[in-house]
Amino acid sequence: VKPDPCGVVIFGASGDLTHRKLVPALFEQFQRRLLPETFFILGCARSELDDQVFRDSFRQYLLSREVTAGAAEEFLKHVYYLSGSYEDNALYKRLSERLTELSEQEWTAGNCLYYLATPPSLYTTIVSGLGLAGLTSQESGRWARVVVEKPFGHDLASSRKLDSALHQWLSEEQIYRIDHYLGKETVQNIFILRFANAIFEPIWNRRYIDHVQITVAETLGVENRAGYYEQAGALRDMFQNHMLEMLSLVAMEPPATFEADRHRDEKVKLLRSIRPFSDNGLGDWLVRGQYAAGAAQEQPLPAYRQEKGVNAESQTETYVAMKVMVDNWRWQGVPFYLRSGKRLAKQVSEIAITFKSVPHSMFGKIAPERLQPNVLTLKIQPEEGIALTMEAKRPGPRMCMSSLTLNFSYRDAFGERSSNAYERLLLDCMVGDQTLFVRHDGAELAWTVLEPVINNWQTSVDNCPLEFYEAGGDGPQGADRLLTNDGRRWRPL
Ligand code: NAP
Repeated sequence: VKPDPCGVVIFGASGDLTHRKLVPALFEQFQRRLLPETFFILGCARSELDDQVFRDSFRQYLLSREVTAGAAEEFLKHVYYLSGSYEDNALYKRLSERLTELSEQEWTAGNCLYYLATPPSLYTTIVSGLGLAGLTSQESGRWARVVVEKPFGHDLASSRKLDSALHQWLSEEQIYRIDHYLGKETVQNIFILRFANAIFEPIWNRRYIDHVQITVAETLGVENRAGYYEQAGALRDMFQNHMLEMLSLVAMEPPATFEADRHRDEKVKLLRSIRPFSDNGLGDWLVRGQYAAGAAQEQPLPAYRQEKGVNAESQTETYVAMKVMVDNWRWQGVPFYLRSGKRLAKQVSEIAITFKSVPHSMFGKIAPERLQPNVLTLKIQPEEGIALTMEAKRPGPRMCMSSLTLNFSYRDAFGERSSNAYERLLLDCMVGDQTLFVRHDGAELAWTVLEPVINNWQTSVDNCPLEFYEAGGDGPQGADRLLTNDGRRWRPL
């Protein structure tokens, strides 16, 4: 579906997200002729820039993308800039005037997508500024939509407060809470794998699945985000959104139709079925770690506490592993093990579904549990694809077997680069499809799941002490115990 003509206003236009992800994504879609026939991009931030300087800040990147100078210039002609502080009401009056002007000049019929790429503390200020200036109204057939970047609040109370501030000016249909993991091809492929193939769904349950592991491992440390990360930590940064979203997608019931609300209803139902973490014995369910000094490729790596902007006695976790149980008919007794951390040995994002062992071995002395169980791995990063491990007979006169892997790689199969998550999600906002966006009750429920953990850490860290792990390694040893206690092991990174 070709999106309606529209303007895209980016708040936080001089920032990292705009430069690394948003404008490049819009440019890719422009190149593929997927943007509306008529559009404009208006950047807004405090830095005193003009249209020309703002365009210049993207030119070098665009020209590095093997495009002709003509294509880059054609795109940049539609890019504009407005400077001002979001706390200043006069900004919204100027913004309104500029939008009227650009809408007429670029023929966008007054439709506007507002992208909040600013520190989260500014979200409510910006939305009320837009509301007071009449920019959130959808009169005369024009639409106004707002994209909100994670984090959606800092805890349950602040997430509710944010929602009620947004709802003061916007209906839920106008709010697009973005979790860019949902825009990744392999994550979307979970629906296709599960619901467009007949062979998986009958075995997608407690009878055949032993356990599920969801891993998001990063090699990077905190980089230059210490200010944000010290307040957030791995639990808020990764689990409230990406990790619980992936768990919902892999475990939810099939929606009857692929409509935004039917789909999100099922995800919400799944979140409601997660067994609450108990206050006592939290350590049996959850491990928190922080990276100590270490090394990678023979280069020394500093400890988290030595990073720029980090408190020398910081208690912030850079790693979390948890065991999650889903109390419903399909998943009773099947553990979902989730882990995510910084400064680990490899960059890997994957969902691995381990099936139960065969019930009986007909191969002489080989016990059933010695036969490797089948593992279906949905690979999200760095390679995108699906792998299935299975036992096979080795060539030769004897009945020997080994495990082999059937591999499907996106790149090899389709021969083209898969779209960047922001490319897909920005287009969805323009066509008004909220399927891959988080609804307010989903965001709230994710906080409800994690709130007991956060409260517990605030009152006493002794119940779940911080464990240190070597930078460049596999994470804290406690995370291994979480599985070995159940007679299982993490997949190697
Ligand atoms: P950033 O580099 O710090 O950029 C923040 C922007 O906000 C700057 O353009 C800054 O402009 C502007 N700003 C700050 N205070 C302002 C004010 N009072 N009035 C007007 N402009 C103001 O942040 P970012 O990394 O782009 O992240 C933006 C948001 O996206 C954050 O909520 C972050 O959590 C989220 N996010 C980022 C990433 C990423 O990869 N970067 C990924 C996921 C989510 P001036 O300096 O010109 O004032």
